[in-house]
Amino acid sequence: NAKNAGRNCYLFYSEKMYRQVRERLEIESDIRNALKNDEFELHYQPKVDANGQVKGAEALLRWQHPLKGNISPAVFIPVAEKSDLIVKIGAWVREKAFHQLALWKKQHFPPIRLSVNVAGQEFTRNTLLQHLITLFQKYDVDQHLLELEITEGTLMESVEQSLMDFRIIKNMDVHISIDDFGTGYCSLGYLKNYPIQTLKIDKSFIDGILINGRDTIITKTVIAMAKSLDMEIVAEGVEKEEQRDFLFGHGCDLIQGYYYSPPLPLAEFEAYVGSMNREGTAALVHT
Ligand code: C2E
Ligand code: MG
Ligand code: MG
Ligand code: MG
Repeated sequence: NAKNAGRNCYLFYSEKMYRQVRERLEIESDIRNALKNDEFELHYQPKVDANGQVKGAEALLRWQHPLKGNISPAVFIPVAEKSDLIVKIGAWVREKAFHQLALWKKQHFPPIRLSVNVAGQEFTRNTLLQHLITLFQKYDVDQHLLELEITEGTLMESVEQSLMDFRIIKNMDVHISIDDFGTGYCSLGYLKNYPIQTLKIDKSFIDGILINGRDTIITKTVIAMAKSLDMEIVAEGVEKEEQRDFLFGHGCDLIQGYYYSPPLPLAEFEAYVGSMNREGTAALVHT
């Protein structure tokens, strides 16, 4: 009867909640171990221009858990964001990225702008700026080759604080890019007021290009808007040739997606840049 059903329901939900909390705590303690035992790694996904040259890359976290195997950032980043762990992870990622940029500079590797993802909590906790300053003192890195990717949602969570920080970051010559553009609150006001250099159109719009009329129009319009605001525009999640042709045809600056390459371990990424940027140069010689 209804009373029993209700009680079962209650039991069911409390068990489910208990399980969720336990899973979260387990992931948190796994993350602490991962930081201690060096289980994280960065992979690099190329951003390619219309001439086939790799001009940028996004650093993406990969985690090989010793017992559980690969754990996706889509699983552990949201957990880390609920505690101070996201700040530790962010610091680890930036240290690694600076180290790599400094190495590439020393090795005369082609100038690739490297982006890292920054969580909103890092703004509100006021740890980001000081960390960037420390890293620029520690590593010989060209400031304009560093880019921070911030999602629309993050931006709106800490408007006042981030506007101040953004201005300082911009003065440092570090790029700021809005990630997953079009999926958040989408207030166009901040494009006017914030020193943002780059918009990344979200994959959800790219998926619909040439299939869904609205996605096609939105994508075209966002590219045109970015261009007229003198911003760089990057498309993410590009998987198909038709999408690439459409995007470059409408003036998109850079494309990131499986069509070119998934995120790669360091050595494979370097080999990819070597082959692409050489072919690109050869192509230019022919014309
Ligand atoms: P994001 O910053 O929007 O990164 C793009 C995601 O799309 C990556 O997933 C990438 O592997 C995936 N992707 C790129 N091209 C394609 C494509 O053509 N098809 C498909 N299906 N997927 C594509 P990933 O690496 O699993 O990361 C997921 C999210 O986790 C990221 O989304 C970002 O929000 C977060 N994340 C990853 N690394 C970090 C990090 O170091 N710090 C922070 N705070 N967040 C991170
Ligand atoms: Mg990103
Ligand atoms: Mg994105
Ligand atoms: Mg995303």
